[in-house]
This record gives sequence, structure tokens and C-alpha cells, in this order.
Amino acid sequence: MSTLMNIYGSKITLNKGFGEVVYDDCGNKYIDLVCGLGSCIVGHANKKVSKAIYEQSKKIVNPSNFYNSQAKQLLSDELEKITKLPNVFLSNSGTEANEAAIKLAKAVTGKNEIISTKNAFHGRTLGSLSATWKDDYKKDFKPLIEGFDFVDFNSVDAIKEKISKKTAGIILEPIQGEAGVIVPNKDYLKEVKEVCVKNDILLILDEVQTGCGRTGKFFCYEHSKIIPDIVTTSKGLANGLPIGATIAQEDLLFKKGQHGTTFGGNSVSCAAALKTIEIIQKEMPFVEEKVKYFEKKLNLANVIQNFWGKGFIIGIKPKVTDFGLKCFKNGLIVNQINEEVIRLLPPITISKLQLKNAVQLMGEVV
Ligand code: PLP
Repeated sequence: MSTLMNIYGSKITLNKGFGEVVYDDCGNKYIDLVCGLGSCIVGHANKKVSKAIYEQSKKIVNPSNFYNSQAKQLLSDELEKITKLPNVFLSNSGTEANEAAIKLAKAVTGKNEIISTKNAFHGRTLGSLSATWKDDYKKDFKPLIEGFDFVDFNSVDAIKEKISKKTAGIILEPIQGEAGVIVPNKDYLKEVKEVCVKNDILLILDEVQTGCGRTGKFFCYEHSKIIPDIVTTSKGLANGLPIGATIAQEDLLFKKGQHGTTFGGNSVSCAAALKTIEIIQKEMPFVEEKVKYFEKKLNLANVIQNFWGKGFIIGIKPKVTDFGLKCFKNGLIVNQINEEVIRLLPPITISKLQLKNAVQLMGEVV
């Protein structure tokens, strides 16, 4: 038997799932509040998305980045409609979407410095990794790409101090997901945008985790009533199929040959994304109400010390240690970020009944 390079060390095999329910290879059932690390935003094996995938796969799978396709054009148009940003580059993952954004910012401005934020996570390829904070992820791959500098998240003054003549732009997550669901002050994004405009540098928002309806708006920045220069997204966009999108302002375009990809924008992922977006838009208005219900139930069950986040990107501090493992043994999948914090990224289609069932399972654990 071959060795799968098992980066996270898990020995669990999941072969079947539907909605927020998954089954392991022994037939055990779980409620999954993480759903493919947040990628299955409208649930595992969503029937409507599966149908769109099947129908597209019968027409054409991947004409390649060399040619346009109907599915790619339709998705690109839909992303423009959502963001009001007209230039779209499609790739296969979050890290690729950020990689493209960093290259674009450098190419267009002719400047080579990028400001990032402490505790940020932007991906594992060398460019995105250079914009990532945690040294554990970086130490074995140095030297990384030069020109990246880090400022405190949630401090506009720190950005102002760091900007130089060489600064092409700043990259940040509207909510820091991997760091433990860190939500900045209400006015942070708006003020960062103002600083970017004033200093003529680009604002790149990484909405790989916060995008695609997770916070109750399609993109989290919409809560702040701003438009970034570049937004990147991935995870939920095609409900679990590989896709990344880098969406940029009118004057931000790659020149011929500056960037490319073989599989990016393949027709099957685009068709899946189009159907996923349709479902997300129907479900988004119910996110806030469902999250309030969930928080209330958790408090009533006396399970948590703290609850925070925005929409369905949730951090909780449970009342017991080893909560993640204990939940798993009791039929519930959550994401233990560190000893104290649990991250939850349930599909936005989850019903109140399943949220109640999840709380009951947590209650039994506590
Ligand atoms: N950016 C953010 C904010 C993320 O949360 C992630 C993944 O968790 C990435 C980038 C990297 O995405 P991928 O794993 O698809 O490369």
C-alpha cells in the first residue's frame, strides 16, 4: 500500500457524506461542522451541484486556460456582478488565488514590497507562505520571497508607519480564520481602505475562508461597505471542487504571458461554482438568524465559555479540554485550533434541527 503524505496526521477515512452528515469507513455517522475545511459551503455532495458537475462533464471538462469557455465566462460575469470588479483570474486553490494577487500587485505597480499582518494565513506555496505569519509553517523553506513585512492586525497606525515608496499593497483577511477567528474592529477595513487610497497602494483582501456567503454577505468586506482593489476567494466557491479566483479592479490586468495555469478555470469547477453561487444567494439571508439560534442553544446547554465570529465562521471556547477529540468520539466533527479554541465552519445550508442536534452532542461531551 502506498504512503499518502499525511500532513495533519489524521487516521480517519471519510467516504460518504450528504449535507452536514458524513460517514467513516466503519459506517459511523457524524455531524460535520467543518465540512471539508469550510469548502463544502452548501453541504457535502449537494445534489444540485452534483447534477451541474455531471451535466458539464458530458460537454467539456477542461479546454485549458488557453481558450475561453462558456462556463468560465458565465462564472467570471457572475463574480463581476457580485464584486463590481471586472477582471477575473481563475485558478485551483486559495494559495494560488493569493499567489496571483501578489504577482498582479507587483507587476502592475512595479513595486516589490507587500505588507501583511501578524498571525495571517494566506497559503502554503512560496509566495503566499511569505505573506503568512507562523514561523512553524515557514522555517524549513527559507529563504522565502523577500519584500514581505508584517504589522499588527487591527491596527491602522501600524500600516501607516510601514508604508514606503516600495509598497505595492497590503494583503489581509477580513477575519483571521486560522489564527482563531479573530474579528477586527468594526471600522478597521474602512480605515485601511482609506489609508490605501491616500497612499496609492493596493488593498488585497483574502476572502478564501470568509467569502462565498459564510458571513451572511457574499464577501465579508461588504459588511464594511468598501470595495478592495483585489479580492481572492476559493474554499466554498465550487462547494468542494478545486477552484480559486483573483478578482481585480479595472486597471489591474496581467499582460500576456505574465501568469497562467493548466487546470484553473476548468469548465467542471466553473459549472459547480455557478450552481453553488445560486444556492449561496438563496441561503445567505438566513445565516444570521441560524447563528443566533445556535449561540442561544449553546448558552442554554452550558457548553461554552465564549462564542465569537461572524455568520458561520465561528470560534468557541468550550468548558472542557480535548473538546475536539471528545466530540469526534461522540459523532461530531469540529476543528480544534489550539488547546482552548474550536473553529466551526458549518455549511450555510445547515438546518436549525441539525444545529440543535450538534449542541446536544456537545452537551453530552461537557
Ligand atoms: N487563505 C486563507 C484565509 C485560508 O484560510 C486558506 C486555507 O485555509 C488559504 C488562504 C489557502 O487555501 P488553500 O488551502 O486552498 O491553498
